[in-house]
Amino acid sequence: MKTVIKDKVLDFKDKAITRIIDFRIEKLSRLGNKALAGIGVGFLAVVVICGAVVFSGVEETEEEEPLPAVLVAEDTEEESVLCYSIQVDGKRIVTLATEEDAKAVSDNIAAHYQTEGSEIIEISYDETVEIVEIEETNPDIMTVSDAVSLIITGTKEPKTYVVEEGDCLWDIAIKNGMNVDELIAANPQADPDRLKIGTVLNLFELKPYIHLTLVEQIDTTENIKYGIKYEDTDSLYKGELKVKLAGEYGQRQVKKQIVKQNGVIVSTQELESKVISEPKDQVMVRGTKPLSTLVGTGSFVKPMSHLEISSAFGASRGGSRHLGVDLRNPKGTPIKVVDDGVVTFAGYRGTYGNMVIVSHGNGIETRYAHCDTMSVKVGDVVKKGDQIATVGNTGRATGYHLHFEVRKNGVPQNPMNYL
Ligand SMILES: [Zn+2]
Repeated sequence: MKTVIKDKVLDFKDKAITRIIDFRIEKLSRLGNKALAGIGVGFLAVVVICGAVVFSGVEETEEEEPLPAVLVAEDTEEESVLCYSIQVDGKRIVTLATEEDAKAVSDNIAAHYQTEGSEIIEISYDETVEIVEIEETNPDIMTVSDAVSLIITGTKEPKTYVVEEGDCLWDIAIKNGMNVDELIAANPQADPDRLKIGTVLNLFELKPYIHLTLVEQIDTTENIKYGIKYEDTDSLYKGELKVKLAGEYGQRQVKKQIVKQNGVIVSTQELESKVISEPKDQVMVRGTKPLSTLVGTGSFVKPMSHLEISSAFGASRGGSRHLGVDLRNPKGTPIKVVDDGVVTFAGYRGTYGNMVIVSHGNGIETRYAHCDTMSVKVGDVVKKGDQIATVGNTGRATGYHLHFEVRKNGVPQNPMNYL
């Protein structure tokens, strides 16, 4: 393969054509087409070693030196073509068919890293990146998109993964033979805690050929947080909180300057901002009524819609008596609180397993044990019929059931007398 580096080196990022001065290269040239036509011979090759060459123009004609016989060779039928290579620190990375394609590669790389809707203020590279016009037989021409992909990823076959619903980084890493750290390193632009469905992740660490710094300006609208005001009320119990008036975010227009290195934001500076609308405070009402004054209605609803006793109150339990009633139901069956009250315990307690205790005032207390899940916490005010837990078999339980107790001044009562 013969390569001719022409006298032109085109700047990669500017549209202007740059003339290279003191461009020391080993130059493989061939006779100009005009000369060939004139003398009617085939293609000839010659090696010209250039020292400090000052090119005076783009369309420069060269002096043809007498050819040493040994270097003169009949060319094959293969004709060399004009093409454009992109060189990084003097090393050719890709070859494009036209100057326009080479420029498009540069534009598309910047666009790849550009924030949507931003204005690019400045582009710079850590490397020296040039478009060089060359002549070559059988050049390995790439499409613009393949060239962009190769320069950005460092590989001809980048592998990616599109995030699906329910995916987590760990799963994606394992599925693709990577560990989580490698996956994070390969995706500096992605926030591992907030994977969005449809995000395209790189499966192998990128080794980009160029490191591009982009300075952008962007106009955005941002929310302004609202404050919260509290109003006390004795119509609610202590710990109860209700929204009286929902808060509203304000909005401001912001002009920012962002500096990105290969797509990763390294600095953000607010240039100017203007408030479009002020936020509106949220108003909350906060209860003050003491929980000790909370008294239930005295009439109970059923804790579950279907009641099936699997062990009665007072049944003998190896020397002791059963303090409640066991009501069988499938796992996950909703458990409702039987009267208004306040939650005084919600947690795991020995043989009871997960248990909720609700105080209804007047010395009355109900207990709900062996729960699978609990949806209340200590201090919560509950209304008759609210779901507080689901049926499970936590603690010492055989089979799924609710162990339900009613106590009056601490003394267990037969719950069935209340239902
Ligand atoms: Zn029981």
